[in-house]
Amino acid sequence: MNALPVRDDLVALAGYHSPQVSVDVRLNTNESPYPPPGGWRAALVEELATVAFHRYPDRGAIALRRALAAHHGIMPEQVYAANGSNEVLQALCLAYGGRGRTAAVFEPTYALHSHIARITGTAVATGERDQDFAIDLSEVARVVSEADPALTFLCSPNNPTGRADPSEVTEAVLDLAPGLVVVDEAYGQFSRWSALCLIVPGVRGGHNRPGSDRLVVVRTFSKTWSMAGARLGYLVGPARVVSALEQVALPYHLDAVKQVAGRLALDYQAEMEARVALLVEERGRLYSALGQMEADAWPSEANFILFRPRRRKGSEVWSELVERSVLVRDCSSWPRLEGCLRVTVGTPGENTAFLAALTEVLE
Ligand SMILES: *Cc1c(COP(=O)(O)O)cnc(C)c1O
Repeated sequence: MNALPVRDDLVALAGYHSPQVSVDVRLNTNESPYPPPGGWRAALVEELATVAFHRYPDRGAIALRRALAAHHGIMPEQVYAANGSNEVLQALCLAYGGRGRTAAVFEPTYALHSHIARITGTAVATGERDQDFAIDLSEVARVVSEADPALTFLCSPNNPTGRADPSEVTEAVLDLAPGLVVVDEAYGQFSRWSALCLIVPGVRGGHNRPGSDRLVVVRTFSKTWSMAGARLGYLVGPARVVSALEQVALPYHLDAVKQVAGRLALDYQAEMEARVALLVEERGRLYSALGQMEADAWPSEANFILFRPRRRKGSEVWSELVERSVLVRDCSSWPRLEGCLRVTVGTPGENTAFLAALTEVLE
């Protein structure tokens, strides 16, 4: 007997995985190279001793959402938390996408936007970024008028290109798009401007701006907060969107441990900002060093840099870096990114090791 086949529309979907190769220098998934502060770990261990593990966790994650709301200067009703920002994106697609609805993306961008949309049965309308990977507003106008998307995804700074959208672009997309505009700010703290400015009262017209009731910003603890292992992300947006997401969430989807972990992390904002500042400085060093090599690099407002070796095949450079125990992301076979690699900014030592290995490989 044949095994039961999976959904027809899943067969066509390849997974999204970065290989977990064992190397000394891991610069492939944009994690923080630094662990969270020792004070946070101690506070977490102490509070975990009081968790009632025989009971379900707080279903509304109230304490965590209050802390996030205070952090951003908004109301707890405007915050939705989930198991990583990817689960936030999935909830958005479940609540606002699905059969007969479309999500718009502008490539090249974060592969999971279209992947999660398709898994939830949402059609995907694809627009192109311009030559410098910036959002092209005439292309946005074309895509939204043709597809009438329920969801329009932006990613700022954009993974994997590193470019951030300025406020004028975000606002113009908000004016053009008919449905929800989702700004994925996984790297938001590395960038100079955040779309949160269009939501938070008192900042640039904030929540009074027409259309800001269709804007949601998605953030994660996985990158700047050094907590990829905790799987925690959240959305800031209108209370009515938060209610819709609660409707599609599984009961008690946020476990007690992560609710505590996330709430306590916010007490260490200054430490987070210090890590971000250090990585931004190292990003500058990496970018100038890449500029001296036989490679083209794109300016980045995130904790990674996209680059393309000029005379060597990207996939070969990737393998030769692995031989030198350095792992970067191989984007060389991705559409629109032919020959490109993406390196995460690591510790100064890791970055130096990467640069030394790359110099050898490109010589
Ligand atoms: C890393 C990343 C995320 C993070 O996903 P989590 O599920 O929160 O770990 C989200 N969006 C983008 C664009 C990313 O690069």
